[in-house]
Amino acid sequence: MIRVKDLEKSFAGARGEVRALRGVSFEVGKGELFTLLGPSGCGKTTTLRCIAGLEQPLTGEILINERAVFNAADGTFVPPERRRIGMVFQSYAIWPHMTVAENVEYPLAGEGSRKERNIKVDEILQRLGLGALADRLAPNLSGGQQQRVALARALVAQPEILLLDEPLSNLDAKLREQMRFELKSLQESFGITTVYVTHDQEEALALSDRVGLMHEGALLEVGAPADLYVHPAHKITADFLGTANFIPAQVQCSGNRPGDEMLLESPIGSFAARRSVEWQPGTAALLFFRPENVEILDGNGPAVSETNHGAGVVTRVTFLGNSADVILRTGATAVRVRAHPARIPAVGKTVSFSVAPSACIVFPA
Ligand code: ATP
Repeated sequence: MIRVKDLEKSFAGARGEVRALRGVSFEVGKGELFTLLGPSGCGKTTTLRCIAGLEQPLTGEILINERAVFNAADGTFVPPERRRIGMVFQSYAIWPHMTVAENVEYPLAGEGSRKERNIKVDEILQRLGLGALADRLAPNLSGGQQQRVALARALVAQPEILLLDEPLSNLDAKLREQMRFELKSLQESFGITTVYVTHDQEEALALSDRVGLMHEGALLEVGAPADLYVHPAHKITADFLGTANFIPAQVQCSGNRPGDEMLLESPIGSFAARRSVEWQPGTAALLFFRPENVEILDGNGPAVSETNHGAGVVTRVTFLGNSADVILRTGATAVRVRAHPARIPAVGKTVSFSVAPSACIVFPA
């Protein structure tokens, strides 16, 4: 439905040229919600604006529903208003002097008769649960309602695709979480192909069919949320999506095939991990595992000489309600653990822990 190929884009900055996009390519399937995720400045908004036609890339090609809307090679550039796109920005950009219905009707200006426009506006307001608010002035709405008005306005002209740029970031934490589910179910019920931009990893994991992790103007890795979270192929992905332990280690032996286990020596003990690529014994590496995959063992646990077990002193406990963030120290190495609230170890106590080999991944040091 959307094909983005080899986009490059530079801006003139105060200290010379800024290369905002360095060859961005991805595809979004019909009805899919695809999220561009990454830290501030990595090029998410620029990519979205290129799809919308608000920026013109230097190179590459963009197709929407098999129609080229941009092609640097042959000079194709379809202006934004002819791309059949609905957009919602962080700021909503709702007109304060207009009612909800007038705001939603705005993109239909001059289209069909007044009666036809009214039918379209009524229909979309009903679908988004805004029917009762049609005559209310837009500023007299809650944050969540304003958000829905912006969405109704983006959808009223029945666009082929929807582009959303941090649409929830102006809402407070509780509403943001609620709106995530609402947005996802609306997107599914409309079946509209959507590109979503956010720097919030939780939002990306909760909403997306697939996530593309952007880093310094390029897409580093693309996958389903659970795949990227559990099996990241890059350290940057592992680090950006949730919390991570990275323990400096040395490869002892590498398995023969992908999927085999490999063995590492580290300051917290010997660890078997899933092998992704071939490693030379003696190579310096980083052992990665997530805090929720560390199990604190009752008593002293198995002998520390066994693989995938360690012991450490509890140096910090932060109670988070549904869990606790625990720091264990083994010599100079800290291990972060997500503990069950009913099983929080006391500060100062030495505890044994284990991490399953399947939860351990090895990255280059
Ligand atoms: P954020 O989450 O902060 O919006 P982003 O990932 O969306 O970040 P972009 O807004 O796409 O990042 O910006 C990518 C790079 O391009 C940044 O270094 C930014 O400063 C630069 N940039 C973007 N727009 C312009 C512009 N109009 N003029 C100059 N530089 C720009």
